[in-house]
Amino acid sequence: MRLARVLAAATTTSSSSGASPFLGVRGVAAAAASSASSSSSTTTTTPPVVDVCIVGGGVVGTALACVLRSTPLTSHLSVMLADRAPPPSSAWLDANPSRHPEPRVSALTPLSIRFLRDVGAWDRVSNARARPFKTMQVWDDASNGHVRYDAREVGEDALGAVVENVVIHAALHEAATRLGVIFPPPSSLASLDLGGDPGTLASVEFEEEEEEEKKEETENGDGGGGADGAREARRRVRARLVVAADGASSRTRTLAGLTVAGWSYHRKAAVGTVRTAIAHDTAWQRFLPNGPLALLPIVGEGTGDGEGGGDEGAAGGGGDGGGLSNVVWTTTNEDADRLCKLSDEDFAAEVHAALRAEGKYAVKTSPAWGSDAAAADADADDGGAENVGRSDFDRLQTSLVDSLLRPASKLALRGVGVAAASPAPVFELPPAVVGASGARGAFPLATRLAGRYSLRRLALVGDAAHQARSISHWSPYDRVGVVNADT
Ligand SMILES: Cc1cc2nc3c(=O)[nH]c(=O)nc-3n(C[C@H](O)[C@H](O)[C@H](O)COP(=O)(O)OP(=O)(O)OC[C@H]3O[C@@H](n4cnc5c(N)ncnc54)[C@H](O)[C@@H]3O)c2cc1C
Repeated sequence: MRLARVLAAATTTSSSSGASPFLGVRGVAAAAASSASSSSSTTTTTPPVVDVCIVGGGVVGTALACVLRSTPLTSHLSVMLADRAPPPSSAWLDANPSRHPEPRVSALTPLSIRFLRDVGAWDRVSNARARPFKTMQVWDDASNGHVRYDAREVGEDALGAVVENVVIHAALHEAATRLGVIFPPPSSLASLDLGGDPGTLASVEFEEEEEEEKKEETENGDGGGGADGAREARRRVRARLVVAADGASSRTRTLAGLTVAGWSYHRKAAVGTVRTAIAHDTAWQRFLPNGPLALLPIVGEGTGDGEGGGDEGAAGGGGDGGGLSNVVWTTTNEDADRLCKLSDEDFAAEVHAALRAEGKYAVKTSPAWGSDAAAADADADDGGAENVGRSDFDRLQTSLVDSLLRPASKLALRGVGVAAASPAPVFELPPAVVGASGARGAFPLATRLAGRYSLRRLALVGDAAHQARSISHWSPYDRVGVVNADT
């Protein structure tokens, strides 16, 4: 089928703009539907034929499998999902408040939540461990500017929810199983042949992870079915569409001969779990010279007693028992590694200082910014902390904004019939961080883009197509999309 036809089919069902080459998951679904012949059911011959063979069952590959099987347009397609690792256990979905949270989380937007609901995975996620956040505050240490969003402004209860990645993954896997997705035993992609002419199906070969083990058993004569045992560990399927969902270092992409371009940020994201003196429902993000630091509320109660806290003064006020938060701190590679090695007490103290502009993280141009005095000022003045501790430059900037830009924008808004803008939202101090616990990890940040997102009988999705500097995106399902495949 010609690319133009696939594009046309895909754009009618995709939420992406028509001009975009990134077609969204429903675009892939449409491409797959178009590529399936009327007699497209799986054959029982060897090697078997599947309509869609997805290589890589991470969150993106599994989400795609779910949407293919749950969308009326494509639900008749046979979908195979192969991953070299076993899927996460459903036990992650048991409501178990005492389980310590995993450090890898995602902040899901309402769109992502709707997506999970549509494929039947959301109820399990929300019953297990989803923590809604109602407000978001983003600011930086280089100016007095800040933005603050409140779900009520748009008539919603929450701006999104923070959930551990493994919980989302387990719920998607469970939904995929229910939807009839075919899961071979854990196996790695071994070879890929996309076929020469339009009538030829793609041929994909997988190697079971245990093959080496079986070979050893065979060589040692202790079972494994002799030479056949090793051969059985390789399986071949033919597919109308192969989807590369095997992550940033995609082997599928390499075997298809596609190149990637990109760059490293020379930054890592250090992630971990901290306890705050009071429970909160805000996603906080402060931009520091080396990168942003985010504090996201997650499911779980803290003791709020300041035990292990890095700052005695900050530890008080734990009357509500406190709460747990996830930290995602983007900084230099060395600094991220250092943060991961700190004791719980020191990590908590450093997160606390960096969020509240204390010690070495104090704002040079605005010393009072972030202090309790600033917060008190902010309470007393709708202009928030904009009026405290400013440098001459800040003052000049504010006076220009006040004297020129605000009146001009008000006039412009009035001119188009829009009521005067509401007062600037008040800056709030993040809660005191009083402790830390659990594992920490540091993840290198890079951007990598595949030279093409599709070839005949091949589509790339997720990080295999487009690895972005993810921390600011806040939705894994924005990146399920991508692709059209000339099938
Ligand atoms: C600290 C951190 C925070 C992040 N926060 C967010 C966030 O809030 N929002 C957001 O949108 N994104 C976030 N991201 C990015 C997000 O996690 C990734 O974009 C997403 O996980 C990519 O999913 P994927 O399924 O494409 O790839 P992966 O999750 O990498 O999955 C690839 C799968 O393919 C399998 N595989 C690999 N090779 C083979 C092979 N040869 N054969 C068979 N199987 C194979 C792997 O076992 C794996 O299961 C964050 C990333 C980091 C590091």
